[in-house]
Amino acid sequence: MTKTIPTRCPDCRNNSLKLTLVNFESSIKYDGIIHAFTVRDCPVLKCHSCSAILHTTDSHDSIDRAARNHLGLLHSSQIRSNRKLLGLKQHELAEQLRVSAESISRWETGRVMQSRSSDLLLRLYFESPIVRQYTTRFENDISIGCAVKLAKQLTWTNGAAKTSNPIRWSATIHRPNDHGFDSYTNPFKLVG
Ligand SMILES: [Zn+2]
Repeated sequence: MTKTIPTRCPDCRNNSLKLTLVNFESSIKYDGIIHAFTVRDCPVLKCHSCSAILHTTDSHDSIDRAARNHLGLLHSSQIRSNRKLLGLKQHELAEQLRVSAESISRWETGRVMQSRSSDLLLRLYFESPIVRQYTTRFENDISIGCAVKLAKQLTWTNGAAKTSNPIRWSATIHRPNDHGFDSYTNPFKLVG
């Protein structure tokens, strides 16, 4: 299907609209701050009689791309293509990232820009098979994020029979904090 490009200018009514690449300054409010950025080679419909400019779907894409470049965020098309590369539907990626399907849809159409934390999550998910395993396999594991390492330690007391001895486990738990990681060892008894 080919797009029909209108030629009649809504302002001066002349048939002077032409697809033209223009550069201009734009701005966006993100994280509560106004960010100014330059949009280059933006495809707009420009009237060559009165200089009126009409934006198109392509020009909106171009502005969205320039804004995301400026902010250092993944482009809408990158989110979409990476998702498809992994063979996921929007709702499936949403489930994996614990966000709503609407959020994925809004990010991919450029209607909403993902937060910096969501952007980081998307990058980690797309980049790392390990992260993808984690989001799938450890859905209900509350220890994820604490890097629990279990070291099996059999304890022997006063020559008691092996079968009657409790099996002790030692968990080294690393917790992220402001200045890196705290670590401590917390022995506990395995039940059952
Ligand atoms: Zn005009």
